[in-house]
Amino acid sequence: MTEKSQEAVEICRTVADLRARVAAWRRDGLTVGLIPTMGALHAGHISLVDAALAQYDRAVATLFVNPRQFDRPDDLAAYPRTEEDDAQKLGAAGAHLLYAPNAHEMYPDGYATNVSVSGVSAGLCGGDRPGHFDGVATVCSKLFLQSGADGAFFGEKDYQQLQVVQRFVSDLNIPILIHPCATIREDDGLALSSRNKRLTAVQRAIAPRLYEVMQGAAQAFGAGGDAAPVLKAAVEAINAAGFDSVDYLEFRDAVSLTPLEKAGGVSGGQAARLFAAAWLGDVRLIDNIPV
Ligand code: AMP
Repeated sequence: MTEKSQEAVEICRTVADLRARVAAWRRDGLTVGLIPTMGALHAGHISLVDAALAQYDRAVATLFVNPRQFDRPDDLAAYPRTEEDDAQKLGAAGAHLLYAPNAHEMYPDGYATNVSVSGVSAGLCGGDRPGHFDGVATVCSKLFLQSGADGAFFGEKDYQQLQVVQRFVSDLNIPILIHPCATIREDDGLALSSRNKRLTAVQRAIAPRLYEVMQGAAQAFGAGGDAAPVLKAAVEAINAAGFDSVDYLEFRDAVSLTPLEKAGGVSGGQAARLFAAAWLGDVRLIDNIPV
């Protein structure tokens, strides 16, 4: 059992410090779980810390707002930065270390390497955010190699990201176990997200309708038949609920992420998921659920 504390977690900022800390734990025979984040921590992130503490001796969270995975400078600039508060939350959750490097530590002068994953990166959040998943795969592979952790925890909230990570870890033989964790939601169904803070009261009231409409569509898929009319009706319902636009609503294989045309595949035992991204003002919400 790890003792929970009210103190902020200890922070380290360099690869050398991180490696020294992990090496000392290794000498004591301890295992290490990693929780990569971009900060502005909420209960969804803390659930990953809890999962890591349940399976490993030491839990290391990382905080790095990765410029390479933002396609718009204004989105990067608007991303919330709350390191002090994050360190407090991690301390209270019982995490052992926060690794928070700056951009120069992560991408020193002359940095020139990119990790690019094809297939699962295509479409959905990869379609309308060019370079996004290259940025994610590059920074995550660096975090895995810098820490040498035994396992890493990722939320199903960012399901495509999770598949991208599983793919490059397997393809590059990186010795780390990836642990998928369920999406944590508000009582009204809205998936927790750092971006929710930017919603106005009116937008916040509309936001849970995305999950609600998705659940209705998933139920309709249970009856079999073509996916297209169900998806079309659901997009109309999301727009009618007050969303400003829908980037995508798609029905895809849960592992390869190839689009599925027939709901019938589901009853044939094929794991499938419904994926959505929609805008409320300048806030882009994403969600996904199993079908
Ligand atoms: P982020 O800081 O948004 O990059 O997220 C860091 C990690 O937390 C990722 O693995 C996310 O999938 C995960 N995460 C974010 N929101 C949630 C949530 N509502 N439930 C579970 N995991 C989440």
